[in-house]
Amino acid sequence: MAISGASYCLLLTVFCYVNAHPLTDDEPYPYYTREDWLATPATDVEPLSTPVPYVVIHHTYIPGACNTTEQCSASMRGMQEYHKSLGWGDIGYNFAVGSDGGAYEGRGWDTMGIHAGRANSHSLGIVLIGDWRVNLPPPKQLATTKALIAKGLKDGVISPQYRLIGHSQVMSTECPGGALLAHIATWDHYLPGHVEFKPATTNSTSNL
Ligand SMILES: [Zn+2]
Repeated sequence: MAISGASYCLLLTVFCYVNAHPLTDDEPYPYYTREDWLATPATDVEPLSTPVPYVVIHHTYIPGACNTTEQCSASMRGMQEYHKSLGWGDIGYNFAVGSDGGAYEGRGWDTMGIHAGRANSHSLGIVLIGDWRVNLPPPKQLATTKALIAKGLKDGVISPQYRLIGHSQVMSTECPGGALLAHIATWDHYLPGHVEFKPATTNSTSNL
């Protein structure tokens, strides 16, 4: 059966909606804004002082890995709802990356996240959706994470001397999972060992 003109336009509309942000040299990954994944309004919007000296990597553990825009968007909504129920006022992370290779806007580049205690005011928190204790994320999930960091660097949101760390280097947690932590330890700017952050009210440069 032939597709009618109206149906075709509807298909195009859906297609254009899901692919609203074309890939560019700066953003060589599908990028999904809060509107795209149907975020509810944030009630905690503290500005983040940039450029940040740290990037903190997380895994979600739960929810598990997502492989389509629809699955990852549902994971974003679920995490936002859960984090709001904890009184955080929004999803905790600045960005999330799915196994679909998509980057999903959390609090974004300019708003302080709630993801790593005292490190929150000194860092961007990027979560790789899934449980990465034993298995590594697929290559495109890792590549998008690197590209997201590169964009932050290019835009001056991340310090040129930034340090890359895992959540467990700041707090007592398994996050971002042993397999993922061992992998990011091979990336540029990785800083090994425990990292101590002073309370946010003290001079933020004193513990660099
Ligand atoms: Zn974490």
